[in-house]
Amino acid sequence: MLSPLRLLTRSRLSLRPHGVTLHRRTLLTLAIETSCDDTSVAIVEKHKDASATLHFHQKVTANTAAYNGIHPVVALESHQSSLAPLIQQALSHLPPAESSSDPRRALHHRDTVRVKPDFISATRGPGMRSNLSVGLDAGKALAVAWDVPVIGVHHMQAHALTPRLVSALESRSVTGPNFPFLSALVSGGHSMLIESTSLTHHKILATTGDIALGDCLDKAARAILPSHLVAPPYGRALEQFAFPAGASDYHYTAPAKRDVELARRITKWGWGLGAPLAESKNGSSSRKMVYSFSGLLSSIERFVKYEFDHQASTISKRLRQPGHLSDDERREMAREVMRVAFEHLASRVMLHLASLPPRAAAKVDSVVVSGGVAANSFLRHVMRAFLDVRGYDHLRLCFPPIGLCTDNAAMIGWAGIEMWEAGWRSQLSVRPIKTWSMDPSASDGGILGVEGWLNV
Ligand code: AMP
Ligand code: ZN
Repeated sequence: MLSPLRLLTRSRLSLRPHGVTLHRRTLLTLAIETSCDDTSVAIVEKHKDASATLHFHQKVTANTAAYNGIHPVVALESHQSSLAPLIQQALSHLPPAESSSDPRRALHHRDTVRVKPDFISATRGPGMRSNLSVGLDAGKALAVAWDVPVIGVHHMQAHALTPRLVSALESRSVTGPNFPFLSALVSGGHSMLIESTSLTHHKILATTGDIALGDCLDKAARAILPSHLVAPPYGRALEQFAFPAGASDYHYTAPAKRDVELARRITKWGWGLGAPLAESKNGSSSRKMVYSFSGLLSSIERFVKYEFDHQASTISKRLRQPGHLSDDERREMAREVMRVAFEHLASRVMLHLASLPPRAAAKVDSVVVSGGVAANSFLRHVMRAFLDVRGYDHLRLCFPPIGLCTDNAAMIGWAGIEMWEAGWRSQLSVRPIKTWSMDPSASDGGILGVEGWLNV
């Protein structure tokens, strides 16, 4: 097998795949995402003026409600059933070809002549290999049939680039945010803080040492909510229960100082949640660039299960009697678990910014928050208030529309477009990758470190 380096050298000299001219000014891609439990297909076009159009975007999510989390086989079967029908639907949304256009770019679909995509974008990793194969292999098959290249996209890179897709879709002439920017990616499977300095340089500044934020909120919701309100997405059910009147229920003051942030706030029921990592022996781990949400969850589960012993000021070993947890107390638990979890998330953004030399810090002007949990309006409120009170009121907070910040094929198409413009293509032999870093300094070399890339 050729090493990636040799491939690069050879391809620079000779590769001009399929007669495609470099730097074509309008780019059209059909994109496929199947890395987890969402099967998604999109048709994305980037125009001459850097704006973009989403001609088609659909997804089917595997129904894993009966399981505690994502069931790999159920997800796989859902991809196998859903992908081909979604691609079939997508084809009738390819833009119609103009009579004057290049016949090599025309595709006859049913009775209409449509523009053939310039290339296929399909998620290559990281993720469950069998699930990725469904999309990547379908993408390769389309690429072969249409005689166009395929790009095997890094799923997390696509998440990181999503705010740039959002600006392009909003028809801004500049595709911002510009590098460098920070992203907090918070979903059912991830909790990470990423620093993006270029298309292929994304450094993970902090990630969770135990469970993901979305997972923590989902399980906390199942513990806290009265049973008739437990329904997915559990994080949303928790938010709605905590703040039935929305923002007017917030009454939130961000901690101006770190000692206030780390202090346990005792509620009128006696219990109080401490900030994760705050109570280490010497306090040193409270500044570690790592997230931890499992302790919060187990505290909540204990508060729900056992009575509070007011005399000893601690949770007792006595089980709560049925009906002894009022809606008011449940609501306070819902509010507190979100407040503490969101402040913990924001704290690592602040710690990172504070660690930078002033010149480097001044270059960062945006923090992107994406992933399913970014749908939470209280999170937006906490992040904004927290940044403001700590002197970062100049930082822009971007929350991509929720349909673009959960798993989706539009972001895969956009990442494909950005990689295409930088000259990257994938070989037809590429296989899915289960674990794939985004950071060039990681042992696998990051996005470009794996085999199978061609540069034209
Ligand atoms: P993803 O993994 O990106 O598909 O996102 C799913 C996660 O987002 C699940 O953990 C959901 O409970 C969570 N989620 C969805 N809506 C909300 C919300 N409004 N507040 C908090 N978490 C949410
Ligand atoms: Zn994802």
